[in-house]
Amino acid sequence: MSSKMIFGIGMTAGVLAMGAVVMTYIGGPLLAEDARIPVLEKAPEAPQGKVEKSQREWHKLLTEQQFAILRLSKTEPAGGTLYQDYLNHGPGYYYCAGCKTELFSSNERYLFDTGWPSFFAPSKEANVGTRPDDKFGTIRTEVFCSICGGHLGHVFQGEGYSTPTNLRYCINGAALLFFPTEDARESASSGESE
Ligand SMILES: [Zn+2]
Repeated sequence: MSSKMIFGIGMTAGVLAMGAVVMTYIGGPLLAEDARIPVLEKAPEAPQGKVEKSQREWHKLLTEQQFAILRLSKTEPAGGTLYQDYLNHGPGYYYCAGCKTELFSSNERYLFDTGWPSFFAPSKEANVGTRPDDKFGTIRTEVFCSICGGHLGHVFQGEGYSTPTNLRYCINGAALLFFPTEDARESASSGESE
C-alpha cells in the first residue's frame, strides 16, 4: 500500500487504514494512478500445461494491481485508466497478465459503456473457466484463467445488451495484456490452431 493507491474515500491515515479493511471485504476499490494495460510487441507463447506458483512467487512476478486482481480476487474501480486503455484499443488479443494465455479478442468486445473491459465470449473457451461465487451475499459467476487459476472478473447473463450470447464477461483490465494486430479475425484464422 502506498500513496500511489487511490481509495474511494480517505483523507487521514486512520480512514485509509479503515478503507483498507473495508476493501478486503468488498473486493475493491483500488487502482494505481498509472495503472495501464500493458501492450505487447509480439504474441506471447502459450504456456505448456497448467501454471502453478505460490502467492509469494506471484507477488514477485506481478505488479501490485495485477496481484490484487489475479491472486486476491479484488475488483478495480469502474471507468479508470485501465478501462480507458481498453476503449482505445483497436483489433487485437487479450492475454492473462499472470501466465500469458490467450483469453479474449477484439472480436468479442462490448461497444457499450460498462466501466470495465467486457466481452460477450472468450476467444479461447478452454482457457476461460467459470464457477459460482457467493461472496458478499449475492450469487455471481466468477471468471478465471483456466491455466493459472487467476481471477479475471465475473460473467453476467441477460443484461439486455444486444450481443450474440446475452453474456457479459466483465473483466478487470489489470488481469490483461493486450497484443494489437492489423485484424484480429484474420490473424485468428491464419495463425492460431484450436
Ligand atoms: Zn493465467
